[in-house]
Amino acid sequence: MNNMYDYIIVGGGIVGISTAWQLKVRQPQASVLVVEKEPQLAAHQTGHNSGVIHAGVYYAPGSLKAEFCRQGAQATMAFCQQHNIALDNCGKLLVATTPLELERMEALYQRCKANGLEVERLDQNQLKQREPNVVGLGALFVSTTSIVDYRQVTQAMAQEYQTAGGELALSCQVTAITERRDWVEVTVNGAQGVRRYRSRFLITCSGLMADRMVKMMGLECNFQIIPYRGEYYRLPSKYNQIVNHLIYPIPDPDLPFLGVHLTKMIDGSVTVGPNAVQGFKREGYGRLNLNWRDVWEMLTFSGFWKVTAKHFKTGLSETKDSWWKAGYLKRVNKYCPMIKLEDLQPYPAGIRAQAVLRDGTLVHDFLFAQSRRSLHVCNAPSPAATSAIPIGGYICDKVANKHGELAKSK
Ligand SMILES: Cc1cc2nc3c(=O)[nH]c(=O)nc-3n(C[C@H](O)[C@H](O)[C@H](O)COP(=O)(O)OP(=O)(O)OC[C@H]3O[C@@H](n4cnc5c(N)ncnc54)[C@H](O)[C@@H]3O)c2cc1C
Repeated sequence: MNNMYDYIIVGGGIVGISTAWQLKVRQPQASVLVVEKEPQLAAHQTGHNSGVIHAGVYYAPGSLKAEFCRQGAQATMAFCQQHNIALDNCGKLLVATTPLELERMEALYQRCKANGLEVERLDQNQLKQREPNVVGLGALFVSTTSIVDYRQVTQAMAQEYQTAGGELALSCQVTAITERRDWVEVTVNGAQGVRRYRSRFLITCSGLMADRMVKMMGLECNFQIIPYRGEYYRLPSKYNQIVNHLIYPIPDPDLPFLGVHLTKMIDGSVTVGPNAVQGFKREGYGRLNLNWRDVWEMLTFSGFWKVTAKHFKTGLSETKDSWWKAGYLKRVNKYCPMIKLEDLQPYPAGIRAQAVLRDGTLVHDFLFAQSRRSLHVCNAPSPAATSAIPIGGYICDKVANKHGELAKSK
């Protein structure tokens, strides 16, 4: 490995790898190093999610999230086709089970239209025809939702990146960053001990550790990453055909990411989930995992108390049903009554990296921080796996603008 790079990227999740690959495509002569602390890519959020290529139903029309999702879904499907990655265009049904949900469904229908999505309203009978095992008063059908394994997508992007000459350092944890006028020095702890690398520009895409990178850099950090566990169950294989599409409940518009869904996975199985409960270890997947540093930082952050107080009732109900399986079952029985308690089999959880501001605001959109020679992705919430290709392109554009500014300031 060199000692001086044009770019160092921290994080081997889908956002970091997509950025690295696109940088090498745009600037073939540039030297690029990706540093990832785990022995393999996609070890955290990218490898622990629902695997859905979202169409972009919920997002405010014109927002960065809506635009990235729309572009990302198309780009991801094209990428998968080019690289022979298994993909299923199974579509998604949003099922209303109460009169209030029917009203909310109408608002979602309008939002789909505003976002330019193909959407169809189904009445009770049409729903029954499409999904004999699902009950509801009506549903929306979005045909452009698909499923994939994002680990495979990340691997294929990494392959492209390495073929173009990009370097990858696995099992290497960034432990310190120092910015100078003309370069950034990154201290890396790996199998070969502690090493220092310099880079003309640094990009961090570090998911659950995003705030720590910003702090390491010495930048003002007005947010903190709060880990929210997303717990799943898997249905027994006899239920692999229980649904023909992805089945989602109609969400509360204030908390659109809540509500367990029935997800067909690309390996043929069906999962139920995820919920959203407080995590006590940022990268700990067991329910009882706890990390004192993570807990201490959370408890001493005012935003944590504010967000917890604001969503106390919802948080309590999610936590209760996390421990009380029968409660969890009720959430899915609402629209799929045939699933029984014994059908909910263990499946690995995922952990969302949720940026929370000091005033307790949950950041729903992408958030970036920057310095003279660095750019940090501070919040890349769902559907960032779907949107990883346009996000990588957006970061490349931002970096090119920065270079322009640096050249002028010389
Ligand atoms: C339960 C759940 C379900 C989801 N479902 C979907 C879905 O169906 N569709 C969708 O589009 N999105 C979904 N998402 C969101 C999506 O998975 C994430 O938004 C996306 O994977 C974020 O990618 P990332 O690269 O930013 O983060 P990550 O995948 O978390 O990668 C960050 C990487 O940085 C590395 N890192 C951190 N600190 C350091 C350090 N100091 N040194 C070196 N490396 C470091 C980590 O090891 C990690 O590999 C879901 C998320 C969750 C949690």
